[in-house]
Amino acid sequence: MADGTAPLSDAAVWLEGERIAAVGPASEVLPRARSAGDVEQIDLDGGYLTPGLVNMHTHLSLSLPGSGGDEVKSMNAHELALYMADGARRTLLSGVTTVRCVAEKDHVDFALRRAIQAGRVLGPRIFTAGRALVCTGGHGHEGSDTLECDGADGFRRGVRSQIKAGADLIKVMISGGIAGEHEAIHTPQLFADEMAAVIETAHAWGRRVTAHAGPAAVIAEAVRLGLDCVEHGYQLTPEVAADMAERGTALVPTLLVTRCKEFFDELGVPDWMQCRSLDAGPRHLESYTTAVRAGVEVLLGSDMPPFWNFEGTSASVRELEYMSEGGIGPARALYAGTLGPARWLGAEADLGTVEPGRFADLIAMDADPSQDTSAFRGVRWIMKGGRVVRDDLAGWNAW
Ligand SMILES: [Zn+2]
Repeated sequence: MADGTAPLSDAAVWLEGERIAAVGPASEVLPRARSAGDVEQIDLDGGYLTPGLVNMHTHLSLSLPGSGGDEVKSMNAHELALYMADGARRTLLSGVTTVRCVAEKDHVDFALRRAIQAGRVLGPRIFTAGRALVCTGGHGHEGSDTLECDGADGFRRGVRSQIKAGADLIKVMISGGIAGEHEAIHTPQLFADEMAAVIETAHAWGRRVTAHAGPAAVIAEAVRLGLDCVEHGYQLTPEVAADMAERGTALVPTLLVTRCKEFFDELGVPDWMQCRSLDAGPRHLESYTTAVRAGVEVLLGSDMPPFWNFEGTSASVRELEYMSEGGIGPARALYAGTLGPARWLGAEADLGTVEPGRFADLIAMDADPSQDTSAFRGVRWIMKGGRVVRDDLAGWNAW
């Protein structure tokens, strides 16, 4: 499926090295490939082939309040690096071939990205914000995955420090959230001059900005200042959604975070946080449908580790199912999990479609995901950069 709409039947994809050389009817592509020399042929046994999924809200070093999170917080740098490398491998083997990390601890994400690029660690392509910027005491300030800044100068320095470390984008927390004990979801946390400083500095360096944000008023202000993407958006209104649609501000709704009691229980997340999360669920879903109706670009992001086993599938696939059922349907869900994110990342020349010139980051399944998003539950073959990393029919899995 080149553009996320109509599947092409009896198709073949010709790869050269890590990229796609040709796509089309097998009767045309196979003779061309064979005439170019010796080619190895992989038969996908009638499977549906799509680009690998792109998860736009990932934390490989996630540590929520509670015993599960405490274990991650107590890791030293070496343990954390190995833990995140394991998460990266699981992510790729779940069919997510690219992630956008939006706050990782201690800059381990940069080391991990280098190790994956060098072929020393198996994992997805990583676009990362490094540490998220937050005001003193603001959302997520407790961990080494955030950097406290105050005042416009402080936030400018914060942006520059993450770019210096290698950040592809900037993440900033502009309101309270679910996991902060001393705040509410609707607490505004940055002043306008601080938000403007983040956005102007990042844009000057060619980096896009995404913001953790809940309340409509805070989001409206940031969108007017040029924000590129909203995470969660728990309490959007038709007015701010219309503004986002008009200005092209994307939404990564992370619907799972307000409907994942099973995950919270697994990690020993305390009652106060569980209540705040689950209570926000209905308004969160309403906010999402408001955005969809207004024409806001919505993109896949799980917040939970992308590979996490949740309700019979991975967190990434479950999130895409919620997005599909919540208003966009399967064809747009496929886009929201592949080409939409690639475009936001400015990587559509490399990722997001099965077309010549793109990386051969491909997944295969038995059902048609443009008809039913749950088809992704059956992903059984995964390739990244022309290398097969999982093939269930052959019993091969790089676990
Ligand atoms: Zn998050």
